Amino acid sequence: MSARATALGAINLGQGFPDTDGPSEILEAAVAAIRAGRGNQYPPVHGLPELRQAVAAHQQRFYRLDVDPVDGVVIGTGASETLVAAVLALVDGGDEVIVIEPYFDLYAAAIDLARGVRVAVPMTMVDSEFRLDLDALRDAISNKTRLVVINSPHNPTGSMLSIEELSAIAALVLEHDLIVLADEAYEHLTFDDRIHHPIATLPDMWEHTITVGSAGKAFSLTGWKVGWASGPPDLIAAVRTVRQHLSYVSSGPFQWAIADALGLPDSYFEGFAADLQRRRDQLVGGLTNCGLSASKTAGTYFVVTDVRPLGFSTGADFCEHTLIEAGVAAIPVHAFCDSVVGDPYVRWTFCKRDEVLDEAIARLNTTYGGLG
Ligand code: PMP
Repeated sequence: MSARATALGAINLGQGFPDTDGPSEILEAAVAAIRAGRGNQYPPVHGLPELRQAVAAHQQRFYRLDVDPVDGVVIGTGASETLVAAVLALVDGGDEVIVIEPYFDLYAAAIDLARGVRVAVPMTMVDSEFRLDLDALRDAISNKTRLVVINSPHNPTGSMLSIEELSAIAALVLEHDLIVLADEAYEHLTFDDRIHHPIATLPDMWEHTITVGSAGKAFSLTGWKVGWASGPPDLIAAVRTVRQHLSYVSSGPFQWAIADALGLPDSYFEGFAADLQRRRDQLVGGLTNCGLSASKTAGTYFVVTDVRPLGFSTGADFCEHTLIEAGVAAIPVHAFCDSVVGDPYVRWTFCKRDEVLDEAIARLNTTYGGLG
């Protein structure tokens, strides 16, 4: 969709990347690191010690988690690399891995590469919100289950797992002695005073959880590709074993700058989330005016709409039509699914400048205004 949007000169509300860069002092910190010769050569294999220390301090500051900066953190080329390394490290051929559907497509690729078996648990729509189906999750666990991948705040639906849902997942994980891969890339992108709870903070879950974070998401620097996994040293040692043979190391000067970024004051994180929340409201208001019913979005860059009120039966048809007729790109949610659960939905991103969102809404209104 991004390639086609570019070719057609369409506004791309499909792919989730901000069109403004992160904090200027962090950009300057990267420039200063390069000029000072910090990180221009291979940094230490598991990540710059200063950045591992900053990740541990961040987990302590926001979640009261005690992370060992020496053995409990690994830095990767984005959250992506640590996620893939974790799956490759922990999943053997034939092991089952549970993913909550719709799911970020990287998980499926990583599970396939590990020759694992993906078991998708579809979410259900409850009161205009995608929610985890706990009964379906319970039913999906077998004696071959090894790993449960969770993602909160959730791409593509924008939903967040409540503390009750996390507790229910934790109970199943402990009962069956499973491991959780908790993708918390959007941990700081939460709205309406919703609080993000890492599952690792729940009783006895620390030993069962690898937690993944993304500087790209937290600081609007998606091109820097700095991410990390933290957790108990035995699980992190497994991730390190694989990850070091993927990229070996990456992002030397950016690691220095992100070490600074993780120490930014609370006002940065609060202002960032408030700004995104305003953009969410701007886009949701525009989409609703066009007759598209939007699901509730508690976090991330994304909102999902049901296209049926406009007379389309699938998100794929709608996206095709909207790209050509309105010049706006969105992504059909079926791209994140094995089953039909995502078929009537479309994902839009709101991490764009006001004028871009306004222009997209104006174009949609021209095409769909009055239809809804
Ligand atoms: N997890 C989720 C749920 C994502 O949406 C993304 C990026 N789209 C990532 C991880 C990857 O993050 P990074 O760019 O840090 O590799």
